[in-house]
Amino acid sequence: MTAGATMPVAALAAARAAIGFMPDAEGLALFELGRRAAAIGPLLEIGSYCGKSAIYLGAAAQAAGTRVFSIDHHRGSEENQPGEQYHDARLVDSQGLVDTLPWFRRAIAEAGLEDTVVAIVGRSTATAADWSTPLGMVFIDGGHSEAAAQGDYEAWSRFVMPGGILAIHDVFPDPADGGRPPYNVYLRAIDSGRFREVLVEGSLRGLERV
Ligand code: SAH
Ligand code: MG
Repeated sequence: MTAGATMPVAALAAARAAIGFMPDAEGLALFELGRRAAAIGPLLEIGSYCGKSAIYLGAAAQAAGTRVFSIDHHRGSEENQPGEQYHDARLVDSQGLVDTLPWFRRAIAEAGLEDTVVAIVGRSTATAADWSTPLGMVFIDGGHSEAAAQGDYEAWSRFVMPGGILAIHDVFPDPADGGRPPYNVYLRAIDSGRFREVLVEGSLRGLERV
């Protein structure tokens, strides 16, 4: 893909400052995918966390006059729980539970994207059960268990319109680099014949709905 418009400086600064796991190069690639997808329809991400990826997508949606729906129960994945590898003590609330929603809201406000990024607080598959709006993009970056990742693919990939984008994060062809489920979902999407790869950046994959 060719590089298009660049992200507004304020949004880029807010994305870089937000808590999260996405390297800047992947975020900018996500912005590029979002620009392309936003011409087709609204964007949706599974896995809001503290808003970092939502800002890259939000900047793309804002430029096109569309929106990003960002789904998360905001209680963190298995690996974010106390004692686990990706736990962050700043994200624990007064009840001792992980709560990323206040961080998400703050990050989206700092990026000036409150009218563009719509938070949906709940489980991904429960949200999909009543969903019917066709989408320009589905970005899968939620639970990383096989059941969660496959469930997200089954629930959401069908909403990607022709010419739209299915993006998947944490795709590691080499098992030494990370867990299997996102890679398995990526292979499943390619094998379905409904998607073709248009972007590779780090562990981010962009697939176009054919
Ligand atoms: N996209 C974010 C990171 C997401 S981390 C970024 O790059 O900045 C994964 C998130 O998925 C966690 O916040 C976790 O709470 C959420 N999650 C895991 N399983 C989920 C499910 N079944 N439904 C909704 N959210 C889920
Ligand atoms: Mg991720």
